[in-house]
Amino acid sequence: MAATRAKTKRSARGYTWEDVEVLAYKAEGAAPFKDVTRQVLFRDPHLAAEWRYFEVAPGGHTTLERHRHVHAVMVIRGRGACLVGDEVHPIGPHDLITVPPLAWHQFRATQNEPLGFLCLVNAERDRPELPGPADLQSLRQNPRVADFIRV
Ligand code: MN
Repeated sequence: MAATRAKTKRSARGYTWEDVEVLAYKAEGAAPFKDVTRQVLFRDPHLAAEWRYFEVAPGGHTTLERHRHVHAVMVIRGRGACLVGDEVHPIGPHDLITVPPLAWHQFRATQNEPLGFLCLVNAERDRPELPGPADLQSLRQNPRVADFIRV
């Protein structure tokens, strides 16, 4: 839980902040992912949003998922690629990524450095949906997508 003080200092290690806990991305076994941490930077009942920082270790990836809520993402560390809908994009520092409602999405880090990104979401939001066999079959019709996704 982020501090409510006016300023929270970045810790000396970088990409962590005082009083901001480094959390598991999701409960282990809840969904497929590899080497991702989550930090909640801002959560305040007066603001109907949460601002999180996710870090994907080299070679890691987030869950392939979709949901009605949207994500506004900015990369602040490292490089990687993301799937949004049926497009795969290389991503790097200060790129903005918009994930629209019900668009399949997944983020992957390169093999040699972590990928860190800020992600803004509604505080109240629907639960992510994982792809079923029919969804995967449909996603894999596109060779670039087939090559990219990890499930
Ligand atoms: Mn998502």
